[in-house]
Amino acid sequence: MTQTISINDSDHLQLTPLEIPSRLLLGPGPSNAHPTVLQAMNTSPLGHLDPAFLALMDEIQSLLRYVWQTENPLTIAVSGTGTAAMEATITNAVEPGDVVLIGVAGYFGNRLVDMAGRYGADVRTITKPWGQIFNLDELQTALKTHRPAILALVHAETSTGARQPLEGVADLCAEFGTLLLVDTVTSLGGVPLFLDTWGVDLAYSCSQKGLSCPPGASPFTMSARAVEKLQQRQRKVANWYLDMSLLSKYWGPERTYHHTAPINLYYALREALRLLAEEGLANSWQRHQKNVEYLWEELENLGLSMHVQEQYRLPTLTTVRIPAGVDGKAIARQLLNEHNIEIGGGLGELANQVWRVGLMGFNSRKESVDQLVAALRQLLPK
Ligand SMILES: *Cc1c(COP(=O)(O)O)cnc(C)c1O
Repeated sequence: MTQTISINDSDHLQLTPLEIPSRLLLGPGPSNAHPTVLQAMNTSPLGHLDPAFLALMDEIQSLLRYVWQTENPLTIAVSGTGTAAMEATITNAVEPGDVVLIGVAGYFGNRLVDMAGRYGADVRTITKPWGQIFNLDELQTALKTHRPAILALVHAETSTGARQPLEGVADLCAEFGTLLLVDTVTSLGGVPLFLDTWGVDLAYSCSQKGLSCPPGASPFTMSARAVEKLQQRQRKVANWYLDMSLLSKYWGPERTYHHTAPINLYYALREALRLLAEEGLANSWQRHQKNVEYLWEELENLGLSMHVQEQYRLPTLTTVRIPAGVDGKAIARQLLNEHNIEIGGGLGELANQVWRVGLMGFNSRKESVDQLVAALRQLLPK
């Protein structure tokens, strides 16, 4: 008999039943899940081909079409976090050699560049300082120069707190037969979004930001034009797990086994979307806007200022300038350790310059703002 290796002997672990500290998550995500959503998750899994589960998948599809304001038949949840849904848009839309034009004004624009390159795209970029947006003239000039197969933009750049306006972009794309791909990870549920009216062809999001749900099941949609491009591919999609020509047969009438869905996360997503529909999409957008305006006002009362010009600020994520002489990381650490509040720090161009404060989904409430501001009032030098 071989001796088993003991956990305690090898790692000096003292294992006690799991205990998770209670935190208010006001960073760039995840945000706290709605209690009703957590309850929904905490039930026994069904089989992934059980009719009751298939019916729940249909509900997820309808609800996702509602929250995105689209009629795209191919609207599903990808098993994985927002990054998996992001990769799904790229891998299904991009064929090696395709010119892909990407607007980069933050961390997630750069991630799109990296991903598209890995799938063989001929990547072109337009850039802006972090916190700014692209206007229609700039996009038109870039489209004329590059004539891309795909234009990719980040609607809500979580690294900067800027909202990229999308109205009118698809009209510019139409001239070159360009598909419009949009990251809506930090906008879905909290920021007005009209995929069909705006002519968006591919979009993705996540569950743990504006949807009040834990991470792991991520919204994905593609338009009829994008599906046509998929069907006309010369080569198979390079990523088996995320190949929509296979996945759509599980989500569609064929119900062909593809992979085991993360069943309990789908329960959670279904319930989170139901709660959003119950509140009403427009009401949710208004709630996010109202609470973020209150946040800005309260932060200004503390003597702080915001990084992004007001008209382009996101209601879901605010970048707050760290005042000169203040140790931003130390304040964030104290907020967590002494007040159980998580906020984020700056990335890339904004490293050490801003804090990132999220008011997303369930956490977009007046009490969240009051708790954060009270804690900051104690921690910041007078
Ligand atoms: C969070 C985020 C992602 C990645 O989503 P994950 O769920 O963390 O994988 C992509 N894009 C943007 C804009 C994000 O904020």
